[in-house]
Amino acid sequence: MGSAPTPFIDAERLSARIAEMGHQIRATYGPDETITAVAVLKGSIVFFADLLRSLPGPVTCDFLGLQSYEGTVSSGAVRITHDLRADIAGKHVLVVEDIVDTGLTLDYLHRTLGARNPASLRVATLLDKPSRRRVDVRVDWVGFTIEDRFVVGFGLDHDQMLRNLPYIGTLDDSP
Ligand code: 5GP
Repeated sequence: MGSAPTPFIDAERLSARIAEMGHQIRATYGPDETITAVAVLKGSIVFFADLLRSLPGPVTCDFLGLQSYEGTVSSGAVRITHDLRADIAGKHVLVVEDIVDTGLTLDYLHRTLGARNPASLRVATLLDKPSRRRVDVRVDWVGFTIEDRFVVGFGLDHDQMLRNLPYIGTLDDSP
């Protein structure tokens, strides 16, 4: 492993923004609606844990494991490695993502989960890189909009490492 990542979004800014997002999300659903929060593994786990604690009112959670086919990330070929445990038909589903980049993963999620007839399907992402978008996808809540750079930490990995960094950083050798 090379040098330590350069801090990009510190822990304080992350926690302030996530607290704000939790309240904005609850305000949209209303105080009594049960939200089925879905963490997209693995990158969203840290954001998910913080967002859950910022989300007042009734919430259930479930987990969806996704893997992009090796070498075909740009084609958006994604497969489910761990499916939801619960039926989401008639539920208000909140997909929690780490980062939206090309939008191909989210497009797949919209199609796949949408076909299961949820009452509603909304998306909260910690980070968004709109300049990289290849498909037009709807994102309901964005923590931070960032320029095109490779970020790590706070759940986001570099070759499966660095997910445990308590902040978002960049790597010196990243573009
Ligand atoms: P998309 O399908 O929108 O291109 O890609 C989404 C996935 O690519 C994210 O969930 C994340 O796993 C990965 N990804 C995209 N940009 C970055 C980045 O800057 N850093 C890391 N660690 N992963 C990224």
